[in-house]
Amino acid sequence: MAKFEEAAARKFRNIFVCRRCKSKIRAPNLKVLAGFISCRKCGSKQLKPKRRK
Ligand SMILES: [Zn+2]
Repeated sequence: MAKFEEAAARKFRNIFVCRRCKSKIRAPNLKVLAGFISCRKCGSKQLKPKRRK
């Protein structure tokens, strides 16, 4: 099942969703967690990892 894991990683890793305007942002995980990344639409820093279900 290596294929599936790769696909999931590609889809979800480094992708975050703005909590305010729900836009998707692709950014390195560490940078987001450290607070370096903000939404380019609304400027919010409240991002959550895109990992739903
Ligand atoms: Zn936003």
